[in-house]
Order: sequence, then C-alpha cells, then structure tokens
Amino acid sequence: MFRIRFHGRGGQGMKTASRILGTAFFKTGYEVQDAPRYGAERRGAPIFAYVRADKSAINERGIISHPDLVVIADDTLVGMPAAGVTQGIDAHTLLLINSHDSASTWQQRLNTEANVLTLSAGEDVADRATLPFISSRCAAAAAALTGVITREIFIEALCEELDHLRQDIIDQNRDIALSEFDDMTVNAGLAKQGGLATASDYVKPDWIALPFESAQISNLAIHAGVTSVKVRTGLWRTMRPVINYPNCSGCAWICSTYCPDGAIKVRTDGYPEIDYEHCKGCLVCVAQCPPHAIESIPEHIARDQEVGETT
Ligand code: SF4
Ligand code: SF4
Repeated sequence: MFRIRFHGRGGQGMKTASRILGTAFFKTGYEVQDAPRYGAERRGAPIFAYVRADKSAINERGIISHPDLVVIADDTLVGMPAAGVTQGIDAHTLLLINSHDSASTWQQRLNTEANVLTLSAGEDVADRATLPFISSRCAAAAAALTGVITREIFIEALCEELDHLRQDIIDQNRDIALSEFDDMTVNAGLAKQGGLATASDYVKPDWIALPFESAQISNLAIHAGVTSVKVRTGLWRTMRPVINYPNCSGCAWICSTYCPDGAIKVRTDGYPEIDYEHCKGCLVCVAQCPPHAIESIPEHIARDQEVGETT
C-alpha cells in the first residue's frame, strides 16, 4: 500500500494535491482514500492531507503515522512540532521538500536515514512557499515518484479535479504539473509501498495505570488564566505586518480593535505595537489601516532583516 502525506500551509492547496493524486491512483486501478486534516482554519496555519492507495481493499483508517512518501510544500514547517512533518519517518520513507536548501543539507539537518529529495521548480523565486500552482506541482511530483501513474492519467485526473476553474488557469496548472512530472521521472519508483500491518505487528501498548478520579476532577479543565499566551501562534505567520511609524497617524483603536488576536497593543505614547509572538499574519490590520501605514513583507525576509540588524 502507498501511504502518502502532503504537508503545507492553509491556502497552498494540499487538499487539492491529495485529491488530484487520489484520483490519478483511482484511474490507475487502485483503491484509494484521500482526506485533509485541518488544524486552525485559516491561511498560513499548518495542514496536512493524506492518500492511501492499494490494489486491494483498504482497511486502514485514520491519519498516516508511518508514511512511504512525505511531500512538504513549505520548508518552514519542518521545524514546527505542531505541523508533525517528521512524524513516523524512517529509512523507508522518502521526503520531498520544496526548499532552496539541498537534499544533503536537509538530510544532515534532520539527521535522518530517510531518503530526501527537493522539489525541482525552475523559477528563481525568493520564497519557494509562494511558488505558483504549488498543489499541482506537489501532486505531479508525488505521482511520478510512485512510478505507477502515467503522465496521461495524471493529467486526466488533474483536469478533472480542477474543472471548476477557468480554462486558462487549468492550462497553466497542467503545463507546470507536466514539467514537474517530467523532471521527477528520473526518480520514478523511489517512493516504495510499505507493507500491510498484520495482527503479528501488533505491539501491546505500555499501559499507564491512571487512578480513578471523579468526573469533576478528571475532566479537562483550565485552572489558570492567560494560558493561551503560551501558544506562540506567531510561528504560523508567512507574511509579517510591519508598521511604518512615520506614516502612522496614531489612530490606534483601528488596528488594535480589528486585530482578531489582540496582537496589537497601544503604547503609552498612543502608537500601536505588534506582538510578533502571537500575530498570526492574517493581515487584517494591513487592510484596515486608513493611511496604509502597515505593510506586509514575507516572513523569511523579515527574519533575515532581523538577523542583519543584530549582527
Ligand atoms: S490603524 Fe494605521 S494609522 Fe492607525 S494606529 Fe494603526 S497603524 Fe497607525
Ligand atoms: S496580521 Fe495584524 S490583524 Fe492579523 S494577527 Fe497580526 S497584527 Fe493582528
């Protein structure tokens, strides 16, 4: 059985990638499951989608914990524990990472025995996560890596899954996907099917004896205030709002009120300040600021600028 996980951020189309790949497998004669798994429902938050494909009926259910192939559309997710990108990878797993860094760099960085490849996008884009048509690229690369899906069937599946879009958009997706498929064909078959779990694979869990407590005590309860402050939602951000103070008129109730996360505080001098530990990068403040005093810049560029300022 093929077990494939797509990891990306909300808005990158990982659900679409899994749909396209699932349909391509189905048209090739496989039984298929494909499903997305969302965390926070917003652009930029980590999500994953998975595909199982087998020639026999699939009895496995739930998320894939031991994948054969992991496709990562945004390499900033790799170091984020909540994204679970590296969960269950081992020497059998193939990782395909959309990244400027080389496969050997990732192999060392992750200290993994898993085989690593990087996505071969031709364009010279600064931020690989914003590559256009990333879902079609990822689906095409994954299809080629399985070695069992033909180019023709893949394109048929892609056009079917995208048929709600304008024809020129479908055409652009098809062209990009075809070039990705062709580039990845040299690695066809590197994503290998994992075996089926059998009853003899069952490992008895190490039970933890929990003392019986009354429902009043054992139910999940929040006993302390401001615990959400400890959740650093700023890690989700792909775009950073930056206040251009010379243009800011200090009407701070506007941006601070519109921020859905309360991540903009008003300083004692009446001007706003953004809490980047908790700003999720929704850019509502950018849209609402009357004199357009908040600009948005890609997070990796903002981080590079910070490093430059501190060195
Ligand atoms: S809304 Fe714009 S102008 Fe008003 S305080 Fe916020 S950043 Fe400044
Ligand atoms: S982008 Fe602006 S509105 Fe959105 S969370 Fe960050 S500070 Fe708040």
